[in-house]
Amino acid sequence: MISIRLLLACFIGLLSSIAMPAQEMPNAIAQPAPRPMPAAVLVEDGIRLEFFSSSVIQGGAALLRLSGDAIESADFSLLNESGRFFMIEGDAWYGILRTHMDSQPRAATLTVDVQRAGETVTLARDIRIDSAGYILQDFVLPDDRAYLADRAVETEEFARLDAITAQQSDLALWGSAGFALPLASETTSPFGAYRRLSEGMETRHTGWDQRAAPGTPVRAMAAGRVAFADTLEIRGNYVLIDHGLGIYSGYAHLSELLVSAGDALDAGQIIGMSGNTGRSSGPHLHWEVAVRGRWIDGLALIEMWLPS
Ligand SMILES: [Zn+2]
Repeated sequence: MISIRLLLACFIGLLSSIAMPAQEMPNAIAQPAPRPMPAAVLVEDGIRLEFFSSSVIQGGAALLRLSGDAIESADFSLLNESGRFFMIEGDAWYGILRTHMDSQPRAATLTVDVQRAGETVTLARDIRIDSAGYILQDFVLPDDRAYLADRAVETEEFARLDAITAQQSDLALWGSAGFALPLASETTSPFGAYRRLSEGMETRHTGWDQRAAPGTPVRAMAAGRVAFADTLEIRGNYVLIDHGLGIYSGYAHLSELLVSAGDALDAGQIIGMSGNTGRSSGPHLHWEVAVRGRWIDGLALIEMWLPS
């Protein structure tokens, strides 16, 4: 399978070429099925821990699978960040590991604590954190939006969204199709990019930008429930979808919102039309993914096999 990351990487750097004819990206990104072979397996006292990748990139995510008799609960921790395992397939538990976009590339120890019949079984293994190779981009905002290059405005908006994305429901809502791109077009800016805005403010890119003429339908990346659909200063008209277990996807700068908070969504359902609202220097779609209150590279979920 050709890596979608590689495909998207081919399009990065086209930021200044908004007038260029659009090159369509492959539309359907199928989930590999059935469940892939683990890259590594750790067995301890009847507990089996499977890793589906031997490394995670900065700001990336990886899937863990845990199985064994009489498991009551389990959690994992890596670099002082922890998460819970959830039973998804009826007999197996899954955890989604994620790393901070600024975690240093190196080997780090993943620890898994399993509660079973009054005892704790601990499994540990080193996992490599790889560099994401972040780039630097300069942006010139239109004069009438220059006031949005404001640290206080950005901090307040992040805090508002963090309060939502830190909430973890106990059910996987994303559905059997997993995650896919919200529209088919080339990307103009990658996750994690360092950005200099016209007023000299420096910031980081929390998602991916894709070229989109105003009014292009934007689709839910996976099934879920609308957690937020309203107007924000920086993100403009914005939809945030709860996919369950602490996974959220957001869609910014929309010209039109077609869903409301609380709506249940199918994968691929149209949630709005792309636009140029908020802190935007031209029509495009900004989409972003958060796991347990932290923005991560959403391509990790698109590439990942996920249980449902
Ligand atoms: Zn963006």
